Amino acid sequence: MPTAFKNLAALYAELEKETSYLKIRDILVRFFKQIPRGDVKTAAYLSLGTVGPHYEKTELGIAEKMAMRAVCAASEELPQKVKRLLLQKGDLGDVAESLSSHGKNKLTIQKVHQTLLAVRDAAGERSQEKKIQLIAKLLKQASPTEAKYLVRIALGKLRLGVADKSLLDAFALAFTGSIANRQRIEDSYNVCTDIGWLGESLAKRGIKATEQFDISVGRPVQSMLAQRVNAVAEIFEKIPGEISAEEKYDGERMQIHKNGDRIIAFSRRLENIGAQYPEIIEAARKGITAKTAVLDGEVVAVKNGKIMPFQLLMQRRRKYDVEAYRAKIPTKIFLFDVLYLNGRSLLKKSYPERKKLLASIMRESERLKLAGGVTSARINVIQAFFERSVKRGLEGIIAKSTGPDSFYRPGKRGWAWIKWKKEYAQGMRETFDLVVIGSYAGKGIRKGFFGALLCAAYNKQNGQFETFTKVGSGFTEKDFAQLKKELRPFEIKTKQKLLRVEKPMIPDTYYEPRLVIEVLGAEITKSPNHTAAKDILKTGLALRFPRFIRIRKDKGPTDATTIKQIIALYKRNNSS
Ligand code: ATP
Repeated sequence: MPTAFKNLAALYAELEKETSYLKIRDILVRFFKQIPRGDVKTAAYLSLGTVGPHYEKTELGIAEKMAMRAVCAASEELPQKVKRLLLQKGDLGDVAESLSSHGKNKLTIQKVHQTLLAVRDAAGERSQEKKIQLIAKLLKQASPTEAKYLVRIALGKLRLGVADKSLLDAFALAFTGSIANRQRIEDSYNVCTDIGWLGESLAKRGIKATEQFDISVGRPVQSMLAQRVNAVAEIFEKIPGEISAEEKYDGERMQIHKNGDRIIAFSRRLENIGAQYPEIIEAARKGITAKTAVLDGEVVAVKNGKIMPFQLLMQRRRKYDVEAYRAKIPTKIFLFDVLYLNGRSLLKKSYPERKKLLASIMRESERLKLAGGVTSARINVIQAFFERSVKRGLEGIIAKSTGPDSFYRPGKRGWAWIKWKKEYAQGMRETFDLVVIGSYAGKGIRKGFFGALLCAAYNKQNGQFETFTKVGSGFTEKDFAQLKKELRPFEIKTKQKLLRVEKPMIPDTYYEPRLVIEVLGAEITKSPNHTAAKDILKTGLALRFPRFIRIRKDKGPTDATTIKQIIALYKRNNSS
């Protein structure tokens, strides 16, 4: 029996009420166990309120005004009435629920999914009308509860507290019978990055399915990440033998997929960012001689041959005026890895082998460069290279293992790559990437903006965001205006389940956990006010004397500093 959309709507309703992470997981397990295997893929996307893997276009392109028109058309009510109800209820999903009286026709999850895909793909003239009609048609067939959730999905606002991570846990239990398989499943997800395909494969083949995933062209893998150390000598403790030290560029990570003339560029968050960097796409098309390849590198802004700060590069992250900004802020890419070449995965090749292959398929140009580096087992050689890099205005170096097991490990922050930055060398304070989850109203000259931002770290164990600090300084006037603009779309009326906030830190405004900012801090101390690490240490941890540094648009909320990292830093600083 195909899964009825009614069942999924019942799942949404159950999840919406639940706040306990474990209970949410159990509800998902029960649901995934009872649906046909052929529906797992679609159900996985829809349970996250989306229609496909994150690396595909997932926005449906429905603004609230459009959804209102769909509700009017389906309910045959006048726009004034819908508007009035929206003012009363504050949520268009609730309005659709109250106006719906149909639901005789049985919607299946496949039907809903196909229609939503058609909504996403509607293009060209009258595409808005087409989208509205498609949604209205679904709403006409929906029961009140179904209508409520359909509208929320259409607006991209399902917000059930279900994250990818909850699904990985649920898959482990539902399809492999044990949470002990969780790590293997996550490792596979880092390679396949398609939650639906992963779920379906596990449902069909059990844990054995994890062996089937490998990199392919067109589908991004999660980026390999770097650990950090406090002293250059520590690098040698962690990586014995020869080290390949590379320049560390302060730009944006980019994974380039080349398939003949077709080039796709993915960000670290797996967004397709090729359209924003046309000159890089052109340079890769000309300068990569292999037929098919997946490459890893860092894009930087340049002016008169000099590398410019990250903030300038972020101005290139725009949908409009791309050509004007291309001239204003030109970029280049430094490539440092190749993960796939002419039909073969290179993930299990050693780093020196991969780098050699990379050099052999590149014709360097002004815009396309091979990352510079030295290879040595001697500390003074590495130290001297680091100093030269910093003098040239770079951030520091990334030391990479050259051993036989120096594989490319998607999504892993391990000791095979270690970053060594000038800030650490100068004994400067730590920086953290934190998620803005709330703000406090501004007074005096900050009236109309905010007085401070409530920032959280990411708890990878339960998918929640735990408060770590309240940032009230470091903002320029421009920062205030920009943060206000960036945060507005994420404003929410009540606290979401994923946010762990306790008195006295309750903010005036809550935000969906979306925007990441970099914050410099002086010290981590115990604090009863914050929830960071509370489950583990019994008391919260807080960052003292925080200062805003910059917005990190290249990072998503789950890329933020983790609770585990904060505990490690706290312990290290308190043991010496
Ligand atoms: P940071 O905030 O310190 O820049 P991060 O949290 O963004 O680091 P890390 O994995 O900790 O990410 O640091 C590695 C990042 O440095 C990579 O994600 C990549 O974007 C960038 N990078 C710059 N140069 C290199 C290089 N030669 N090799 C690998 N990564 C590099």
